Amino acid sequence: MRYCRFQINGEVHYGLVESVAGRDAIVRLLLTPPEEADGDMESLRTRRIDAIPLEQATLLPPVRPSKIVCMGRNYREHAAELGHELPKEPLIFLKATSALLPPGGIVRRPRISERVDYEGELGVVIGKTCHQPPADADIRQYVLGYTCVNDVTARDLQNKDGQWWRAKGFDTSCPVGPVVSDEIDPWAGVSVETRVNGEVRQQGNTRDFIFTLDVVIRHIAQAMTLFPGDLIPSGTPSGVGPLVAGDSVEVMVEGVGILRNSVADE
Ligand code: MG
Repeated sequence: MRYCRFQINGEVHYGLVESVAGRDAIVRLLLTPPEEADGDMESLRTRRIDAIPLEQATLLPPVRPSKIVCMGRNYREHAAELGHELPKEPLIFLKATSALLPPGGIVRRPRISERVDYEGELGVVIGKTCHQPPADADIRQYVLGYTCVNDVTARDLQNKDGQWWRAKGFDTSCPVGPVVSDEIDPWAGVSVETRVNGEVRQQGNTRDFIFTLDVVIRHIAQAMTLFPGDLIPSGTPSGVGPLVAGDSVEVMVEGVGILRNSVADE
């Protein structure tokens, strides 16, 4: 199933998204937040509503993470384009939750940076508390679903600063959505594509990950307990490049949907 989070008449709801006559629409409200489903979306109680076309809904980020734990350099070609060695173990960093931006929100290029890049990524949404999982545990039980993330990066600050707190964490640097889906299988391979003003800039497939998601999640959960709703952007394919004011940027994850945002100067 696929769900979104949206606002209507001043109230915030989670909504079940289905295809109605070939277009995505919110057809039911979720009566329990998906983070409380203990990883089992099918167990959620719902209530039918008059269908709301997804493009007409006031969407919010579909996740409310306690933290955003990102994977860096998880595609060979991207590590090469930035002149980096292949990592020997997962390269992990954090993004601030205050950076979250809904679908349709405006990415504001901060005044402190002269080079702000898009990074289209598959985002993993945790569904079940995960702390040092047993070696034989199936990591998929901890995953609620998947979404699209744009890991927007102030590249000049990333290169200059030892810590990436502002390069990766400035306000509006984490567009996410439009939906969370449990209907795809990144282990089998899903395509991740980024377009700027309609032109394809990045094209990757999760089957090319250097570290598979179970390795990444295990690595994080050795140090840090993952809670339901936590978001793990899984790394970006090659083809990163700058955004300028007036751009429209789209991150497409096959089977999830398209995350669309515009760009402006702060
Ligand atoms: Mg990234």
